[in-house]
Amino acid sequence: MSDQSVITIQEYQHAQLSLSKRRFDESMAYARQVLDMVNATGEVLQNVRAIHLIVEINNTKGRYDNDSKLYSSSLMYLEEAQKLLSQGNFPKKYLWDIHLTKVKTYLLLENFSEAEELLDALLSEDVILHTHLERKINGLLAYSEFHYLQNEYDEAISLVETAFDELTDADEKLLLEIYTQAVRIYLRRHEYSEILEYGTKTLELSRKYNDSEKEFIGLNSIAVYYGTKYDFKMAMLYFRNALDKSTEIDYRYGTAYCLINIGTIYANLFNYNEALDRYMTVLQEYEDVLDDSTGLIIMNNVGNIYFTVGKLNEALEYFERSLSIAESIQYNEMKAHTMAQISRTLVAQKRYKEALDYAFKSEELIEDSGNLEGKQINYITLGNIYYKLDNHDLAMKYVGKGIVCAKQVKDSVSEIRGYRLMSNIFKEKGNFEKALEYQLVYSQAQEKYAMDQRNRQIIDIEIRYDFEQKEKEIELLKKYKNTLVAQHDKIVEQNEKLIDVNNDLMQFAYAVSHDLKEPLRMIGSYSQLIQRRYAAHLEDSSDEFFNYVNEGVSRMTKLLDDLLKYATIGKSDDQDWEEVDLQEIFDVTTFSLKLAIEESNAKITSTQLPNIYTNRAYISQLFQNLISNAIKFRKKDENPLVAVSYRKEGTEHYITFQDNGIGIPADALERIFVIFQRLHKRSGYSGTGIGLSICMKIIERLGGTITVESEQGEGSIFTVILPEEPELEDLNQNDTSFFLDDGL
Ligand code: ADP
Repeated sequence: MSDQSVITIQEYQHAQLSLSKRRFDESMAYARQVLDMVNATGEVLQNVRAIHLIVEINNTKGRYDNDSKLYSSSLMYLEEAQKLLSQGNFPKKYLWDIHLTKVKTYLLLENFSEAEELLDALLSEDVILHTHLERKINGLLAYSEFHYLQNEYDEAISLVETAFDELTDADEKLLLEIYTQAVRIYLRRHEYSEILEYGTKTLELSRKYNDSEKEFIGLNSIAVYYGTKYDFKMAMLYFRNALDKSTEIDYRYGTAYCLINIGTIYANLFNYNEALDRYMTVLQEYEDVLDDSTGLIIMNNVGNIYFTVGKLNEALEYFERSLSIAESIQYNEMKAHTMAQISRTLVAQKRYKEALDYAFKSEELIEDSGNLEGKQINYITLGNIYYKLDNHDLAMKYVGKGIVCAKQVKDSVSEIRGYRLMSNIFKEKGNFEKALEYQLVYSQAQEKYAMDQRNRQIIDIEIRYDFEQKEKEIELLKKYKNTLVAQHDKIVEQNEKLIDVNNDLMQFAYAVSHDLKEPLRMIGSYSQLIQRRYAAHLEDSSDEFFNYVNEGVSRMTKLLDDLLKYATIGKSDDQDWEEVDLQEIFDVTTFSLKLAIEESNAKITSTQLPNIYTNRAYISQLFQNLISNAIKFRKKDENPLVAVSYRKEGTEHYITFQDNGIGIPADALERIFVIFQRLHKRSGYSGTGIGLSICMKIIERLGGTITVESEQGEGSIFTVILPEEPELEDLNQNDTSFFLDDGL
């Protein structure tokens, strides 16, 4: 329960997860580990909670495998928990919970007297029920189950209604419990519109909360609803989905139940092969989860199909098997029904004497406990036998009664058979007028039946078509998925290659900028040496040439320095995350740009800048590059004004750098961030075209973005947007292996 002390051990969560997937052995292994661990700590409440989990696993497995031994083991565990609690002074609610779990276990064991005694005690604990709504609802639902299991559906449903009234806040998980219980009861009460309503609600919430077993119950009840409305297509659809669910969680009882219903729909659609296939699967593979009465009903259905297709010996075999189960569990209604069917089959085999025996026995039972279905079969069979034995009056009496019942249970085949018999009997009696009258009714009913049959066969074909279509779709999806997976793998592979290439490039850039610096330094030094030593021997114009060489050398040095900076972004300083005072960064930057500021008469201002969690080296570099650009790209006739400001939007920091400079033409706004891209001749504005690429690379590593708004001649606004919480893992996982290990 929610307010018990929570066990955070991973194994506990594993156990719960495996239980929800119905992997019982795995779940139990984890739960036992948890129990061992908490046993070692001596923490009583955690121990109790572990026991609750073990009992839940036991009881669910017991239900799935129809294995009541597990319930006894649960009871032992609960005793243990009770003993633990009695040793300390724990709040009473813990004992209450154990008692409730005990009640549920007793109910599974069908030990109703123990269950009731405990339930009464539980539901009289006013203090607990008053303060814990969840406990109250669970208590009421357990009481409802108590009645449900004893076929007392009025009491069961009224307790569900009470639970519903009590639930003032919309706790959907509890609501799901209530809906599920409601739909189970309505199914037993054959209240169809309620079945649809609560089945749909159960389905919706179970899907929301990933509860496969309840989803099964929802799907199944909706299917039953459609079945009773003779909407076989919808019924089939829902039963098939329910079947998928029950197979997924290996809920064998549910699977058997779905297969039986699917078989019955097929039988209704005159597709006897498919119907037999389902019934036989259940009889052969799911016998262990069938209760006797379900088993006997399937055998009965199988017998019926064999009878309908004229395989009389097989029909008799299954009817007899069904009968022997009915006798062993004293299920008189089905006993009478099956005997009527045996009798009818014997008549078809012309074994009238034996048939009469069964028919009489059936009639005796039918009078007090038989169902209409059995009755109509038996009446018409009796009529048929008497007709064959030339006792026309008795024949007429029974056939007449049979037709009335057949109409009531909507069994057109029996009804038609009745009309034909009536016509024959009147013919034998010489009453040709009546004979003709029945003959007419017979052929009309026959025609209507044939049409009905055709329609249902069409539905059968439609269902098969839908099914095949679905299979094809699934097949297609599978193929599609495979291609997608292949494509994905390829993309991953290509990405890896790209990363490799990129790393190689970086390594190259680093090596080039690093290794070229030394020869460049040499060129610079030696050209100065020549200039100084041999000045006297050289022509005047040589000074000018030496200036070109020196200027080239210093430009190239700047280029290599910038390139080196660019290539080393993402190196070790990636790890250094800290609170950084942006105001301080701003001050340091303006100080280091003092010379340029004074030269250009620039005015650099800022709003109050906050502390943010970021990388100091990176953010300094950003300020440095953006502010120096803002000064550099100034208008010739105007003093530069640079305004840095900060604002917070949602979880993001916005830092803007606004200047009154020359601006950027619209078609160049993207290009400026690309390495070596410059918009001006060297003579106009100095630079390497790397500064903004460095900014871009830094911001990417900070998990942010940079945008620029500008118009030619109108100044520019660069906006840096940084996430409040940078994704550190991403930042740190970058491969830095391309750095040479020469100390740099
Ligand atoms: P560099 O400044 O070395 O030329 P950058 O990568 O920093 O290289 O900038 C690329 C180009 O973008 C510059 O050459 C310039 O044309 C343009 N640019 C950058 N900042 C500004 C600015 N604040 N105002 C106008 N143009 C700018």
